[in-house]
Amino acid sequence: MKIICASFQCESNSGAKLHPQKYDFEYAKGEDIFQKLVVKEIFEKAGYTAVPSVYAVALPSATVEQDVYFYYANQILDTVRQNSDAAGVYIFFHGSMEVDGIGSGELYLLKEIRKIVSKDCVISLTMDAHANITDELGTYANIVSGFKTVPHTDQVQAQIRAAEGLVRALKTGEKPCLYVQRVPFLLKNDTVLTGEEPLKSIIEETLELEKLDGVYAVNAFLGHCWIDAPNTSASTVVCARDCETAKKIAKEVANKLWATRGVYKFKIEADEPEVCVDLALAGQENRIFITDSGDNTTAGAEGERTEMLRLFLSKDLQKPVCVAGITNQELVEKFWECADGTKVHLDEFGVDAVVKAHGNILGWGKELIGRSLTFCVGNLDIVFTEKRSAFIEKRNFDEANVDLLGYRVVVVKLGYLFTELKPFADREIFALSQGASCVELKKLNLQRIVRPMYPLEDFQWDAFEN
Ligand SMILES: [Zn+2]
Repeated sequence: MKIICASFQCESNSGAKLHPQKYDFEYAKGEDIFQKLVVKEIFEKAGYTAVPSVYAVALPSATVEQDVYFYYANQILDTVRQNSDAAGVYIFFHGSMEVDGIGSGELYLLKEIRKIVSKDCVISLTMDAHANITDELGTYANIVSGFKTVPHTDQVQAQIRAAEGLVRALKTGEKPCLYVQRVPFLLKNDTVLTGEEPLKSIIEETLELEKLDGVYAVNAFLGHCWIDAPNTSASTVVCARDCETAKKIAKEVANKLWATRGVYKFKIEADEPEVCVDLALAGQENRIFITDSGDNTTAGAEGERTEMLRLFLSKDLQKPVCVAGITNQELVEKFWECADGTKVHLDEFGVDAVVKAHGNILGWGKELIGRSLTFCVGNLDIVFTEKRSAFIEKRNFDEANVDLLGYRVVVVKLGYLFTELKPFADREIFALSQGASCVELKKLNLQRIVRPMYPLEDFQWDAFEN
């Protein structure tokens, strides 16, 4: 009795320009995938053979192009073809992978898998809390266990829940029914944290509901507003022994989720970029961070926007400021041979600058992925990187050879600061800047989403009537 195991993840961002390439995926195949997934032990303890396929996971990026998508999807399908008698399939998806010309990458793959496996094969999935769920998911999958935390800290538990659900279905012979209830609202990703109300109570309720007899999983998915696609929205997904129970719970939780729609707020100061710059320069705190949220590289943006930099260049700075991690390959290339201390002119910004530091940038796995070059314009230091990077911890500054502790104001391309940077921030200001990860939903110009959609429209809605 075999269970096929795989993972294929990339959170897409329609406004971003950099499509993930094959080499952008962290990749493993065969037994090595179980270094990344925790499900093998659960399946083997229950007497099943865990058959490894591939693990291919990329950082949030622009939509996935078909050649890259099929390069990995076909490897998973090959494993399924070679093991078409499998009793189960387990896949760890993100849930918001948008493939050019195809739509949901997850749904397409599931459809193809269903064509190969037997009708009794149980398909169980783990998904990110920001998954955009398609209405048809229940036609192809039986169980979904989503993360119940934002920021995400329960990736392991979500895998365990999905794996245990799969084993339970196989042992009991039950074929869980998966019901999807879309909820027509979009959340500003950065305002929604599961540790705080209003979401905290809803998540706690899903955990209670999962204890009911015959219930496999109860999920409240927040959706991912940066994909302009018909399946973009929040949703509830419930898996239960019988469809009526799944449907009833999904609609009840959906109504509760809908009721929270107007309540989400930023957890920190958030304002227009000009205001953030003035606040930071006037602030008395020892070190103030501004996050350039519209160009958040950890959300798929390129990190090449210079809106915040230009605002600082227009000011007479009385204290040391650093803008860290602007992607500009050309500029790094052009001045890389200049020794530290060399005076140069940055045409793009019309300013004279001094080359201050040569350094490195780190990839997601802390590996060195390229070069950084820091320029100094009076009290302002600007770190340019030849590749997209994310300054999420002090080590990123160290590798770039800039002294984080020497600055009173630091701008980074993030939404909220990562926990690792918080000890260095006496104050954190969230800039509502433009870009691919802009949190102002009305500025996103979404064309393909289902309408009406709160907050773009305000209207009455009840899950039991939809
Ligand atoms: Zn997420």
